[in-house]
Amino acid sequence: MNYTSQPYIKIREKLLAGELSVSSVVRYHLNQIQAHNKALNAFLEVYEDDAMARATLVDAKLKAGTAGKLAGLVVGIKDLLCYEGHHSYAGSKILESFKSSFSATAVKRLLDEDAIIIGRQNCDEFGMGSTNENSAYGAALNYANQAHVAGGSSGGSAVAVQAGMCQVSLGTDTGGSIRMPAAFCGVIGLKPTYGLVSRWGLIAYASSFDTIGPIANYVSDARLVLEVIKGDDGQDSTLSSSVPEAQKDKKRIAYIKEVVEHPSLQPQIKAAFEVQVENLKGLGYTVEAVDFPYIDQLLPTYYVLTTAESSSNLARFDGVKFGHRTANPVDLMQLYKRTRQEGFGEEVQRRIMLGTFVLSADYYDAYYTKAQKVRRLIQEKTLSILADYDFIISPTTSSTAYRVGEKTQDPIQMYLGDLFTVQANVAGVPGLSIPMGSDSTGLPMGFQLMTNPFQEDKMLDLGEKLYAYEG
Ligand code: GLN
Repeated sequence: MNYTSQPYIKIREKLLAGELSVSSVVRYHLNQIQAHNKALNAFLEVYEDDAMARATLVDAKLKAGTAGKLAGLVVGIKDLLCYEGHHSYAGSKILESFKSSFSATAVKRLLDEDAIIIGRQNCDEFGMGSTNENSAYGAALNYANQAHVAGGSSGGSAVAVQAGMCQVSLGTDTGGSIRMPAAFCGVIGLKPTYGLVSRWGLIAYASSFDTIGPIANYVSDARLVLEVIKGDDGQDSTLSSSVPEAQKDKKRIAYIKEVVEHPSLQPQIKAAFEVQVENLKGLGYTVEAVDFPYIDQLLPTYYVLTTAESSSNLARFDGVKFGHRTANPVDLMQLYKRTRQEGFGEEVQRRIMLGTFVLSADYYDAYYTKAQKVRRLIQEKTLSILADYDFIISPTTSSTAYRVGEKTQDPIQMYLGDLFTVQANVAGVPGLSIPMGSDSTGLPMGFQLMTNPFQEDKMLDLGEKLYAYEG
């Protein structure tokens, strides 16, 4: 039986009826990992014994009628999330051998509901990248075509779901890292509203942008996982304690003209997007073009602010408390310098330097303060569009998955690929990527919805109408 071609709610019925055991579900996924992981490099570590032992426990709970909401759901977690007693390397050499003494709130909540954590998934170092090629442990490859990347930064998490190695992955999204690999791999990726899911136990990249969310084959699985992981835990002061009511559907959808007419957009993606627009009209929506005057400011704003925040967040990795420490330093300064030089990859070093520059006394106002102001404008404009419309739609990415190595020589080209996804993070609104078919070479394409803060349910409802996984 192929467990990935059924949503968890169906599998749960069989588990509850005793027709299926959690052990057999976990074994199936371990076999899938065995079959595919060597080629795809999705998991950096597989918790086989751990997962099988927990499966036996959860089977017993099912028999006793005490099993949690996610009993037997097989989940993989991105290497940026902490899991007590397990390694988290953040895809970096600098955290090699680091073991966490506590679990991220999102991970803990999954465990509390009896999900099974099957392993730790490959990603770009500290979440910085769009192809997973910035991982110190090699790229994760696309299951649709292994000459192509899985996307990033949650590349391992997306390809693991694509290849049926787990049912759901927990990824993180700072500028598109859930939605972009989801689009490249033909799966669903949900970036929640900033402040809905606690960042406690997430190794920080850019704290005012970072979010945690699910990657799945079924919209219903993503919804279920979000239900479990969201909400205040007293550990993240940016969490919203009160969440607005569900909004009524206005039956109005906007797309940004400059996005849909962007020269970088591949013609087949544009055509598939136009079909989606027709589908939406068929569902009774009015779909209209709106102006958004800040397209050219999106990426500069994002990269100025995220590099600034990351240069500060990553200061803690100095060889003293965590992970890698250089051998035989002559003094403290050399310990810091050599540790960081040896431990951080090229892209992370580039961002730390850029971030330090934009925060430096002479340039602070010209870059950092300016970018904060532009962020506010982008946020206000995005919310003002969403005051009149239910959703803003776009393709998730302007192209299908890049060939391995295609973008690695030119960081600017790599950053340009994030154009459609960063808006949601700059504005703090939720975003969902659902599959939108494949191009003529068989590479998946993604369709993105953005909506008002905390209206995830409404967005998932529409996602469910537009997309049904067929296994
Ligand atoms: N590609 C973007 C970056 O490199 C987004 C990464 C992310 O969302 N973690 O910053």
